Amino acid sequence: MTLTLGTTQAERGKITYGEYDLVRHPVGGMDRLPVIIARGNSDGPVFWVTAGIHGIEHAGIQVIHRLITPELVSDLRGTIVAIPALNPAGLRTLERRAYYDDTDPNRLFPDGRPPKTDLDKAPPSVLEQAYGRLFEEIKKSASCFFDLHCISINSISFVFRDRVLYRKGDEAGRLRAEGVSKKMEEMAKAYGHTITADFSVGKYIDEKLHRATTASVAMLAGIPALTAELSGSYTPMLATVNAGMAGLLNVMRWAGMLPGDPEPITGIKVVDPGFPTRRRSVARVTEACIVHHLVEPGGLVKIGDPLVEMRDAWGRVLGVLHSEYDGFVISCPSGILYYPGEASMLLAIRDDEPLVGEYPADFFD
Ligand SMILES: [Zn+2]
Repeated sequence: MTLTLGTTQAERGKITYGEYDLVRHPVGGMDRLPVIIARGNSDGPVFWVTAGIHGIEHAGIQVIHRLITPELVSDLRGTIVAIPALNPAGLRTLERRAYYDDTDPNRLFPDGRPPKTDLDKAPPSVLEQAYGRLFEEIKKSASCFFDLHCISINSISFVFRDRVLYRKGDEAGRLRAEGVSKKMEEMAKAYGHTITADFSVGKYIDEKLHRATTASVAMLAGIPALTAELSGSYTPMLATVNAGMAGLLNVMRWAGMLPGDPEPITGIKVVDPGFPTRRRSVARVTEACIVHHLVEPGGLVKIGDPLVEMRDAWGRVLGVLHSEYDGFVISCPSGILYYPGEASMLLAIRDDEPLVGEYPADFFD
């Protein structure tokens, strides 16, 4: 069966270009996703790569542009399906979200719950419906999936390992979840950048991260999927783009889509504290202040290490916040001005939670 997506049809040994209809506008015209399909000369896995679901995150777009070349296709076994701009409205307006849906677009993929009929509430938005259709396309053809993001300025480049959940009592579901999670671990290692798991299960559902592109694809479609965070938003550093591209080439070598050994990841910091980690927002300031970060992204920290100095507007030191965890600094939010309770640092801390677990008991109610 020939793989097609929107107007793009795979052709053996070729790169084909086309569009996928996303959202029709009330004034006519439409937001369409740019689609690239690169099909090798021999059959093999189908690797989906997407970017730009958050309109300020641009590195992934360049990674896709530079990744897909005629030289790549001549070596390729299998097919790459790439969408470099998942959220055209957000990208046009330089906003994380699309102006026609208030929700974070990376929380709009299906979660497997039956639709609720409440006539006083709006039905799923046009964008949520469109991503639901796109999910079905991914499910139909993908062997593995990468979604490319940027977390915040000066961040290290890393991958988030989603947790994979299954329904209580569903033995086949548990086995599938474990299989997918294991593949995700292998794929993350093949990518070669820093690895950290996402929040713990409760917080993960709380933040609706189970509706992120990769979580939805891994959990509902059983396809190994990873979210790559390629450093900072807006104009990317060339080293970041090159490292992202090298990582994806390594994933394709791991998947048997390209020959040869993995290439070293250079030009970026890769951190391995020697234990599995998950993310946690820390260094919550205790009063309104201006912070001075004492450790940079990529820096290893131990319990008790000073993380952040809180100063008043004149520069007088108000206090120092220390780490409650062993781990490393992933990133610092944009800006240095904080109100009480706000977290001024994102840490990767020791992960003592399973990567595969049951959905909360009331999840499907
Ligand atoms: Zn993002």
